[in-house]
Amino acid sequence: MTSFNEFGLAEPILRALAQEKYITPTPIQAQTIPLACQNRDVIGIAQTGTGKTAAFALPILNHLFNMRQRPPQKSCRVQVLSPTGELTGQIADSFRAYGRHIRPLEIALAIGGVPINRQIRALARGVEVLVATPGRLLDLVNSRALRLDQVEVLVLDEADRMLDMGFIHDVKKIIARLPKKRQTLFFSATLPHDIQALAKDILRNPVRIEVTPTATTVEKISQSLYHVDKHGKFALLRKLLQDPALQRTLVFTRTKRGANK
Ligand code: AMP
Repeated sequence: MTSFNEFGLAEPILRALAQEKYITPTPIQAQTIPLACQNRDVIGIAQTGTGKTAAFALPILNHLFNMRQRPPQKSCRVQVLSPTGELTGQIADSFRAYGRHIRPLEIALAIGGVPINRQIRALARGVEVLVATPGRLLDLVNSRALRLDQVEVLVLDEADRMLDMGFIHDVKKIIARLPKKRQTLFFSATLPHDIQALAKDILRNPVRIEVTPTATTVEKISQSLYHVDKHGKFALLRKLLQDPALQRTLVFTRTKRGANK
């Protein structure tokens, strides 16, 4: 596959891609777009930077263009879930860029940490694409600003990060409210067991597409594990840091508060 023209994407999308100066599809795009255009469910193992956003956004826009119908009030036709507000904004920007010649095309954001009222207003008349973080999306559903029974396509982006951030229950609650008959496009950089289990639950006869080997640890790093209870962690860290061999050290911690401490 050497050019976007070979996918049979609608002309307004090809025009937008030309303006974006995209000439050659990336490997994840070359493999995902034809299958997603045939309504297949996809599990894509790909990291950020591989072009995965366009890999799901382009077939979705093509579907919206070919089956034009206004979404009912307080609903969306495409639901994209992503772990962070920042990523959510980037995905919405990509849909806007590739969909700039398609009208009508309402794209809304639902992320936490900002007032909810504007998001409620944006959804009132219905939108084609809603890009959301799981917590705020559930808030909108629970406050009856949004229903999910009209969703035709679900995208889970960075599923592994979403689970790492503790969103599994929210994601499951959201999925329980979606129509069974839908297309699901599932992307994750890594494929640990819990992600495989989630994928198995929500995908229907998916094709698996892998563009990078799943993450492995660097051979040069020797790793040790210390079992300590919560209260012992600080003393242990202190002891480890007293080792004169440790000249520069990176400490990873789960919370900001823990980092400050
Ligand atoms: P993503 O992995 O989706 O975050 O995309 C990484 C970057 O690659 C983004 O800045 C895209 O705009 C860009 N990109 C995606 N697909 C292509 C393509 N086929 N040709 C050139 N740039 C691309």
